[in-house]
Amino acid sequence: MENLKNTLKIISFDVDGTLVDLEYNDLIWFKEIPELVAKKKKISFERSLKFVHEEYTKLGEHNLNWYDINYWISYFGLEISPNKIFEKYEPQVQIYPEVIPLLEELKKNFILIVITAMPREFLIPKMKKLEKYFKFSFSALSDFKELKNSEIYSKISKALNVHPEQILHIGDHWEFDYLAAQKAGMNAIYLDRSNTKKGKYIIHNLGEVKKIIEDINL
Ligand SMILES: [Mg+2]
Repeated sequence: MENLKNTLKIISFDVDGTLVDLEYNDLIWFKEIPELVAKKKKISFERSLKFVHEEYTKLGEHNLNWYDINYWISYFGLEISPNKIFEKYEPQVQIYPEVIPLLEELKKNFILIVITAMPREFLIPKMKKLEKYFKFSFSALSDFKELKNSEIYSKISKALNVHPEQILHIGDHWEFDYLAAQKAGMNAIYLDRSNTKKGKYIIHNLGEVKKIIEDINL
């Protein structure tokens, strides 16, 4: 039984900064929204960007509303549907080059899932080319009304009916991916694309995942 409990069954991925680059989000937060605000307030784009940026920072990433485009649309008094914005930038979604080959390989032996902090609507354009690889997707915000914390990871492993040790979560946020998943008892990999941190379960490219899976499954 012990052996069974320790066998890795599920590989979980964060989405932004892990599977797809941040360009799509950045275009929405730092181009589209400030453009709309500039038009509404009749100010320059530069001034609007500074203002919008300050408002994002004031709220901060520990506040759920920070992730919610509907919140910002109404906060800035804009008249646009989020879907219109999502569609406009959909061609800009960029999947990291090592992602598809890795998923092709992993899908043979594991159930693949995604866990994102972002609302589900943000997931749709990004997952168009990727969704066929994933059996389940979880949005911390839409499904649990919370940030990606250790309780969310525990709830997900319960929902999937596996021990947390049977899940490996991979993500690029030190606190919300690496520490939170680890605290819930999962195996966790910190993807540090900036190449600044070093350690056993810290990688700089998703290509390094397979080696770690082999180590865990030994
Ligand atoms: Mg991320």
